[in-house]
Amino acid sequence: MKHSIEIQFLGAAGTVTGSRTLVTFGGSRVLVDCGLFQGPRSIRERNWEAFPEDPHRIEAVLLTHAHLDHSGFLPRLVKGGFSGPIFCSAGTADLLKILLVDSAKIQEEDADFANRTQHSRHRPALALYTRDDVEDVLRKLKILPDQGWTAILPGLSCRVFRSGHIVGAKSLQLGFDIDGGPRLVTFSGDVGHDRMRTLRGPETPPETDILILESTYGDRPHERVDPLDALAAVVLETRAKGGVLVIPAFAVGRAQEILYMLRLLEDEGRIPRLPVILDSPMSSKATDLYLAHPEDHRLDAQFSKNTPENFFPAGFGTVESPDDSMMACLQDGPLIVISAAGMLSGGRILHHLKSRLPYAKNTVLFAGYQAEGSKGRYLQDKGELDGSLRIHHEEVPVKAAIRTIPALSAHGDANDLIDWLKKLRRPPSRIFLNHGDPAASAALKARIKLELGWSAEVASETETIRI
Ligand SMILES: [Zn+2]
Repeated sequence: MKHSIEIQFLGAAGTVTGSRTLVTFGGSRVLVDCGLFQGPRSIRERNWEAFPEDPHRIEAVLLTHAHLDHSGFLPRLVKGGFSGPIFCSAGTADLLKILLVDSAKIQEEDADFANRTQHSRHRPALALYTRDDVEDVLRKLKILPDQGWTAILPGLSCRVFRSGHIVGAKSLQLGFDIDGGPRLVTFSGDVGHDRMRTLRGPETPPETDILILESTYGDRPHERVDPLDALAAVVLETRAKGGVLVIPAFAVGRAQEILYMLRLLEDEGRIPRLPVILDSPMSSKATDLYLAHPEDHRLDAQFSKNTPENFFPAGFGTVESPDDSMMACLQDGPLIVISAAGMLSGGRILHHLKSRLPYAKNTVLFAGYQAEGSKGRYLQDKGELDGSLRIHHEEVPVKAAIRTIPALSAHGDANDLIDWLKKLRRPPSRIFLNHGDPAASAALKARIKLELGWSAEVASETETIRI
């Protein structure tokens, strides 16, 4: 019997990236999520810091989903000495096989580009990790089944609930075998919503003692517009100007939702058939893999991994090599380009923006959350006004139209999070809000008090919670 539980937020507290929460009980340590810090350089520098806990002393890692802000630090953790199992859903394990390899490739490409152009404060610029480091991570993956409890360590088991965010995304419920007191600790992970064309909606666990709830959009409800209508309007606006529509989005998740929506709009005759490029080193594998997990999506049998052509717009193509990506940057409109990183923290999207932003005929469309301090947020808030964006140490003029469709986000809004909470059979004894900018977490805390009468606390990296 273990007698106490301690929870420490090592990231995603007061911010939306670097999700890592250390849970200690009776001398055993497990880590829930192991994310990269993403966004401005000052935040990304944290990826180079020593991990706050000695990785040798962590016995297991549990992952909510494969997005890099939840999984992208794993290669560094393993390099630093972590040798235990990494538990995740089958969908997450499949996605990690391409996402982490892609992440390593992007780090290698960016370091290489920085060395060729001397665009780095580091001489020489180094990749945070390599593809070999990723192989060491993949060997440690262990599958959490969709049903029932899985033993993690003596006195600790885990079960999962679909979180409706990307393929494989789960809320994790940890069950502790301790004397008296709280026993169930739930990590919501990123919570989606029930309005996506491709993914099934989130499930709430029946009850929990402690809840760690995300709060990305805690301060705002999305406008309840049909995202199909909104997407059609932006496509037609850009088409009328003969320009290029650039959509920053990770190649797994948002990219599939948007590709499928473009297909639906074409089939309904609401947009013309346009060339659509998914520019990502892993793009061809990503959609097959997405379709291979029917437990998470609501597409019927006509969409199998053997028939991805039923899913894509007519003019769809992928770009894999860096040279082809550079060629795609020169291609003129009408054209739709989807490329990563979604918050413009690096990767090929920056090259596309460099060539597209200076022209008024082009449009940049944000389909996902842009964290405070990120280049994406800057472009959303000030790009059209200030007239420039700094990319690779160059001021790039911003003449392109900047658009955002919040309804395309894979995160639920404040109303969705409240609805998620209302499905709990009883109030949790403590609720901690993480994965949100400070204003978003504070606003959600106030709404929870007002509408449910429950107290919630905003997660902080400086305190250790003892239960
Ligand atoms: Zn996510």
